[in-house]
Formats: sequence, C-alpha cells, structure tokens
Amino acid sequence: MKKVLIYYEQKQHKNSIELLAVARMIYGDDGTRKEGIEDYETYGVSFGPIEVEAECLFDFLIEVGDDSAPLEKRVEAHSQEQRKNNSPVYDALFLTSVLDELQQEYQFDCILFPATHMGRMLAPRLAMRLQTGLVADVTDIRRKDGVMEIVRPAFSGKLMAGILSRKAPLMMSVRQNVFSYAPDRLAETRRISHTPKTVCNGGIRLLEVREKEATGDIRDSDILISGGGGVMKDFKKLSELAVELNALVSASRKTVDHGIAPRSIQVGQSGKTVSPKLYMALGINGSIQHIEGLKHVEYMISVNTNQNAPICSISDIVVVGDAKEFINKLTEKIRKEKQI
Ligand SMILES: Cc1cc2nc3c(=O)[nH]c(=O)nc-3n(C[C@H](O)[C@H](O)[C@H](O)COP(=O)(O)OP(=O)(O)OC[C@H]3O[C@@H](n4cnc5c(N)ncnc54)[C@H](O)[C@@H]3O)c2cc1C
Repeated sequence: MKKVLIYYEQKQHKNSIELLAVARMIYGDDGTRKEGIEDYETYGVSFGPIEVEAECLFDFLIEVGDDSAPLEKRVEAHSQEQRKNNSPVYDALFLTSVLDELQQEYQFDCILFPATHMGRMLAPRLAMRLQTGLVADVTDIRRKDGVMEIVRPAFSGKLMAGILSRKAPLMMSVRQNVFSYAPDRLAETRRISHTPKTVCNGGIRLLEVREKEATGDIRDSDILISGGGGVMKDFKKLSELAVELNALVSASRKTVDHGIAPRSIQVGQSGKTVSPKLYMALGINGSIQHIEGLKHVEYMISVNTNQNAPICSISDIVVVGDAKEFINKLTEKIRKEKQI
C-alpha cells in the first residue's frame, strides 16, 4: 500500500484538495478504486483547522498541535492574545521539522505540496532534509510506455520538461488551478493527532495579525476581462469594464512582452492558470500557449475582428468586430442599467 502525504493549507485548501487528483494520476487510479490498480492511502497534514470540504476526501487527516487542547481551541487561541507572542505556525523551519518527523514515522512514498507561497517555502526545505529530489511547479503527469513523466515548464515556459524521478519519496510542488478533483467520497476520514517532538526555536515570531487586503489575484476572480494584441492601444479601457462587472483584468503574453500589462496578470503556459466562471477574451488570438491557462473556464466570450481566430472555436459566444468598440458599448450599457 502506497502512502501519499498532502500538505493541507487552510487558507488555500482548494489547492490542497486538487492534489488528490495528482495522487490519482500518479498511482493510475481512475477515481473508482477498482481492483488491479496500485493501492494507496492519502494523508492530509494540517497545522490549523480543516474545512468540512476535506472530510471524507482524505483517508487520514493529521492534525499537528499540542494535544493539551482540542484543535478548535488551539486555533481560537492562535488568533488571541496569548498566541501573539510566540506562534510556531508561520515558522518554515519548525514546520519542516514536523514534516520530517512525520516522514520518519509513516514512510510516505510520495509528498505533495500546492505551489502556494508556503508550499514553495516548505517543499525544497523538506526535500533537502530527506535527501530526495523535488519537481517544482508541476503542471501535468503523463505516462509513456508505462513510465511516469512529471511535466513542468522550463526556461521561463519556453519548453515543457518531462522529468523522470527515481528518488524516494517522490516529491512535487504542484501549480495551482491546473488539476481538478472530482470527489470520490470515502466512508470516513480517520483523524490522527500529532504532537511535535521538535520544539519551535526558529527565529520567526508572530508579532501581529493583520487582515490581508484583497490580493487581486487573477486566479481568484470569478470574471476576467482579458486583453491581447488586438486591444494593446486601449488596454486601460479594460479596467473600466472590469470595475462595472466586479471583475479583474488579465492579459495575453503579447501585451506583457510589450510592457503594457504586468506579468502577474498573464494567462497561459508561462503565466497563470485561471478558472473563472466567465472569461472575456478581447483581441486575443488563442495561441496554444494561451489556451493552456484556460483549462477550467466555465463560460467564454471572445471578441475578435477575425472570426477564424483559434479562440473563437473554443468560445461559447463569439462577437465578430472591434474589441474597443465592444468595451465602450458594454461599459456604457452596464452603467446606464445601473442608474435605472
Ligand atoms: C514558450 C512560449 C510560451 C508562451 N506562453 C504564453 C502564455 O503564457 N500566454 C500567452 O498568452 N502567450 C504565450 N506565448 C505567446 C503565444 O504564442 C502568442 O504569441 C500570444 O499568445 C499572442 O497573443 P495575442 O493573441 O494577444 O496576440 P496576437 O497573436 O497578435 O493576436 C491578436 C488577435 O486580436 C485580433 N484583433 C486585432 N485587432 C483587433 C481589434 N481591433 N478588435 C478585436 N480583435 C482584434 C486578431 O484577429 C488576433 O486574433 C508563449 C509563446 C511561447 C513560445
């Protein structure tokens, strides 16, 4: 029986749950846990509260903390005065030591992290301790002649590298929003309480908790107004429409390469993978590298002067015409409707 450990991040738990799909792909399971496939168990490890969504998805959930108080109490305390002085929760060295302890105890065959800020801090530190390799920013798992290939962008996304890993445990950090997990609900999730043997003596202390301002991360937005080569001169107009629709602006690489849009809002193979409910592609041609970032878009509207542009063939609605005119008219119409 193979064992897979998944780092469960409370604030981005959706990205941790996605990793169950990666575990499935690694062990060849199609989700039904049929006979004949390599059997495996999933362990989620959490340093804080676990959302109900995770219940019955993982075989085991390891809750780390001192066992003198129930988890909820500890978490509650964390946000209160007495936890302000010395919280281990953000200390990457401490967390790495605990994960190392767990590896010594359970001997996982595979350890997966979401490529979040914290996941990217922990994964290389743990790989060093375990003297194993780490494949970072994984975007796909393929099989060739029965051999598993781990895929990740290389040379700033100029090519996709297929990596074979022979080291154990197999470790990966996985790009967010790329894999989607169709839940395979188990009868139960067994909970394990783990009290760290390591004492937190790292240099990082939590001095104050401040609510984070909205990040404006395009991966979190339900609506994206995306601009490409066809709207480069009028790129600022996109923000006006985005404000009216409570959306965020994203971009193709062409606008980024021309210094019109920042790289942080680039969609695609060498940018971000997005999963909005609505994606408006304005003056975007739909290159294969751009579409690579649109795997989980629910509904797409594209506006293009060329009805044969590749993006049109994957759109739910195609508006053939000038994108600037479309933006102006739609913005004006929404504003008018709001006034009524
Ligand atoms: C290794 C590699 C990685 C890459 N990674 C990415 C990536 O992550 N993301 C990405 O986007 N690209 C990426 N690219 C670049 C990609 O190949 C394309 O060059 C790029 O996506 C083109 O951007 P575009 O569609 O906005 O522009 P163009 O190709 O210039 O297309 C413009 C479109 O706008 C239409 N148009 C023109 N005028 C108007 C108008 N007035 N109104 C409406 N429509 C109009 C045109 O018909 C056309 O369809 C990558 C390339 C490589 C080689």
